[in-house]
Amino acid sequence: MTKTTAKTGRAVPAPSAAPGLVVDYAPSIESDKIVTIAPRQQLYIGGQWVKPVEGRYFQTTNPATLAPLSEIAEAGAADVDAAVRAAKRAYDRTWSKLSGRERGRYLFRIARLIQERARELAVLETLDNGKPIRETRDVDIPLVAAHFFYYAGWADKLGYALPGVKLAPLGVAGQIIPWNFPLLMAAWKIAPALACGNTVVLKPAEQTPLTALKLIEIFEAAGLPPGVVNIVTGAGATGAALTAHPLVRKVAFTGSTEVGKTIARSVAGSGKKLTLELGGKSAHLIFADAAIDQAVEGVVNGIFFNQGHVCCAGSRLLIEESVAERVLDKLRTRMQKLRVGNPLDKNTDIGAINSTAELEKIRRLVETGKQEGARYYEPENITLPAKGNFLRPCLFSDVASSHTICRVEVFGPVLAASTFRTPAEAIAKANDTPYGLAAGIWSEKGSKVHAVAAQLRAGVIWANTYNKFDPTAPFGGYGESGYGREGGRHGLLPYLEVVP
Ligand code: ADP
Repeated sequence: MTKTTAKTGRAVPAPSAAPGLVVDYAPSIESDKIVTIAPRQQLYIGGQWVKPVEGRYFQTTNPATLAPLSEIAEAGAADVDAAVRAAKRAYDRTWSKLSGRERGRYLFRIARLIQERARELAVLETLDNGKPIRETRDVDIPLVAAHFFYYAGWADKLGYALPGVKLAPLGVAGQIIPWNFPLLMAAWKIAPALACGNTVVLKPAEQTPLTALKLIEIFEAAGLPPGVVNIVTGAGATGAALTAHPLVRKVAFTGSTEVGKTIARSVAGSGKKLTLELGGKSAHLIFADAAIDQAVEGVVNGIFFNQGHVCCAGSRLLIEESVAERVLDKLRTRMQKLRVGNPLDKNTDIGAINSTAELEKIRRLVETGKQEGARYYEPENITLPAKGNFLRPCLFSDVASSHTICRVEVFGPVLAASTFRTPAEAIAKANDTPYGLAAGIWSEKGSKVHAVAAQLRAGVIWANTYNKFDPTAPFGGYGESGYGREGGRHGLLPYLEVVP
């Protein structure tokens, strides 16, 4: 594909035809010898590894190689019932009787053990999820430890969470998490629940159960009393049995909006507390006065690193018209340098799509985007590995608000770009979505950033950066992105009730 320059009329290669990398890196593969994965893994109930009553198992695979990793027990309703009862016993007999200071000591111990075993957890997460080791090593696992440290600090200070108000734990929390940040989501759920004095039954995603099961070794090494955390593996039916259990007092869910709605219906009228962290279609707003290179890097980080498997991924790009072509050109050039491949290679930017089903869903949406008429670009210089769930990142420009790729959560490395002329138009377009999880504003002008941020309907708004997380900051959404907040002081409140 070629185009002609306005000045000379000479044909110039379009970015997709440009030569590949000027400098290449030698592979730098992280060893997977550091992890041991049992070929068959059971349920963890009341401090014991137990076989599922119905004897069913399912497989978890490595999405980068499609090799099976382990057979995982599938918990049925009877197993879920046993887990919830074990959690209730641990709550009544042990955990609710401990002082906040004692609970905090367990959590501090867990946080330190996570740090000690960080490399092992990072490799295991990469094997099961497909995300690059750079992400698991530098982002996921450090944040897991940070969450336990942060909520360990709150355990004996709950009296200050809402001064003058007496708070008490709820009892058993049923927690259901997705596959995109398996261990981080487990930490987001378990750490505040335990700090507040609740006990837990956790259901990891069926695609990525391994790190949550490994966490049990750490809980045992920390001496956590039996039954305080129980793990039931399985798919949707296991999750549904957990949310429906009458002894569960609090349900915390992260996952798709569709399943979130089902769960909201199933707990309606039961008196259970519920927090939902659901999908998103978050927008970057790049103003003409922004530091353009920095903005392009932020956009790349926000949607392409991590395969776009982030609920708050910056999947829509709104650019002020006067700089739009410049931004898009730079973006295409930058995309050619993205490294897609072996997630265990420390140079990899984009690893494997988590499952074949997910890969097919993304491909279908990309096809729809092409058919609906948006301009399509993918860096053809990127060679994909012959095996595994890999996909080139892609960019749609000239996207209309009505296009499917602008409205539907793709959950892949697919960016939908359009332009605006005024801040009011940028705000209207950013808010034109049923979701409201995050947004990124790129401008050198602080006053503009604040004025725009105040009008965006998004739970998290980053300015001149993106996808930065901190355990002290609340995270959550508006509209179909869910309700309730996780992280920070706000993240304690869903696990507590006000007592007279
Ligand atoms: P994703 O699209 O991110 O895979 P899902 O919402 O399908 O998100 O899955 C998120 C989590 O919810 C997983 O642990 C999954 O097993 C669980 N889940 C799926 N269906 C149900 C359900 N009906 N009730 C409770 N949990 C469910």
